[in-house]
Amino acid sequence: MANLVEISHGYEPEGAYCTKAFLTAYGFHVVIQNEHHLAVNPALRVALGGYRLLIPKSEAEEAQDLLRSVNVGEISADDSDQPVCLECGYIGLQRKRSWIWFLIALAQGIPFVPYRNKLTCSDCGATQQR
Ligand SMILES: [Zn+2]
Repeated sequence: MANLVEISHGYEPEGAYCTKAFLTAYGFHVVIQNEHHLAVNPALRVALGGYRLLIPKSEAEEAQDLLRSVNVGEISADDSDQPVCLECGYIGLQRKRSWIWFLIALAQGIPFVPYRNKLTCSDCGATQQR
């Protein structure tokens, strides 16, 4: 642990695991501090300082440069097949869950709630059929 330095931290496991997988794919050696402790008891996220990504000090500068290049858009996923909002052109439409199905699932003991067929724009709130 003495040669490891923190390069990123957050309170959501999804972000920590995505960042770890991304850096690992580029050959970095990443450790998430308290990873298993937080998996067993997620209520301690804040108390334990969240998900801290640790990396060997010798790799830290290069890894931080790589993460910065993602944040400024030098590296991005191909979003050509992403649905686009017809109202405002925003890319990032989401499918939401149906509250009616939530009630049905709750009453019948079904362990999941299906998504609606409509896509909702995260920016303007417009809906459209998938
Ligand atoms: Zn929109």
